[in-house]
Amino acid sequence: MIKAIVGANWGDEGKGKITDMLAADADIVIRFQGGSNAGHTIINDYGKFALHQMPSGVFNENTVNIIGTGVAFNIPYFVKELNYIKESGIKDPKIMISDRVQILMPYHVDFDTYEEARLANKQFGSTKSGIAPFYSDKYAKTGIQICDLFYPEILMERIQNACEIKNVLLENLYHMPKLDPQKIFDEVMSYRDIVAPYIANTEEYLFNAVKEGKNILLEGQLGALKDPDHGIYPMTTSSSTLAGFGAVGAGLPPHKIEKVITVTKAYSSSVGAGAFVSEIFGDEAQELRVRGGDAGEFGATTGRPRRMGWFDCVATRYGCILQGATDVALTAIDVLGYLDEIPVCVGYEIDGEVTTTFPVTPKLEKAKPVLEYLPGWKCNLRGITKYEELPVEARNYVEFIEKHIGFPITIVSNGPKRNEIIYR
Ligand code: GDP
Repeated sequence: MIKAIVGANWGDEGKGKITDMLAADADIVIRFQGGSNAGHTIINDYGKFALHQMPSGVFNENTVNIIGTGVAFNIPYFVKELNYIKESGIKDPKIMISDRVQILMPYHVDFDTYEEARLANKQFGSTKSGIAPFYSDKYAKTGIQICDLFYPEILMERIQNACEIKNVLLENLYHMPKLDPQKIFDEVMSYRDIVAPYIANTEEYLFNAVKEGKNILLEGQLGALKDPDHGIYPMTTSSSTLAGFGAVGAGLPPHKIEKVITVTKAYSSSVGAGAFVSEIFGDEAQELRVRGGDAGEFGATTGRPRRMGWFDCVATRYGCILQGATDVALTAIDVLGYLDEIPVCVGYEIDGEVTTTFPVTPKLEKAKPVLEYLPGWKCNLRGITKYEELPVEARNYVEFIEKHIGFPITIVSNGPKRNEIIYR
């Protein structure tokens, strides 16, 4: 059985915890898109970990963790996380890196930084991890596949070709020092022996794993609204965040993805720029941010304060539609226990008209939230393990959201720990 765990919103929905939890029964966990630009926070018996590049199953000694071709593979990050995992007590993490995955090159990070500086106040709020330049190169066919490390002549030729184009931009657009192909070659080659033991033909491996009926988890990064096709373009990321892309970025048959567990948080938060209709500000936002402290409301990768808002039914319904949600996991409900009443965004008012359909970006910029207020439960929900034991107000909150998004909430998370979970 193949399951995908993906986000309904802007990322940071709590996918890491749900993945880590489900990874306990998974034979294989796969990262199929994105790179080190976002992080998962995982809290388990070994401690608290921020993972950026590693699949969330690395803490289970029996799970094989695959970096799929869809990933922007940042080797220094990978090496750092590998050491960090080993130091934490996992002696022999089982990892496979697709031999076709492309390498996030040092110049991708530089170009990301230069471009954000050039855009000045019009920037996209990039994490400057090189993600956009990486995927641009991939689709322009000037990228470098990891298998090229084993064919030095081909690698050198490809680096020279990339540098030829990049040096024109560096000289004339960014006014920065030119790239030296030999230096880049030496740098990436220095990693070859470290990654070599993990590189494999993951397509064949997965083909056989599917035939054998293995439990496979696809682990998404960010959320549906950051998808470059269907999200809040151009304030999106550069690879597809949708479960459907899991088939591509991992190399699996699309019809075998049976469950799409779509994660959404009981309130909203977002890092980066872009329209965020249910956003709140000032003390109201700060209170929610601090209460959500356990929920890491200071970006796992960037450490910058997240933008906060109320639950957005319009955006989440759209996110669930795009993901093809079979199950919705509602996380961090415990955070809302301090509120007398809880606002929920149930519609967008655009030019005097109310809609529940998620609009295109120019319209989204004009949308104002239509809020409904639900009674709060005013108590601590942590420790509760059965849905029926939740206070009636909390159940009403879950059921109200479920009705408005139109997808079944089958998992409710009431704390950051792996076992703080309620199945419905
Ligand atoms: P991801 O990118 O979707 O994996 O989200 P992150 O892992 O970056 O952020 C989720 C944060 O919420 C982490 O700090 C988790 O420990 C935390 N978290 C997850 N579920 C819950 C929950 O039910 N309650 C609380 N309080 N925190 C949670």
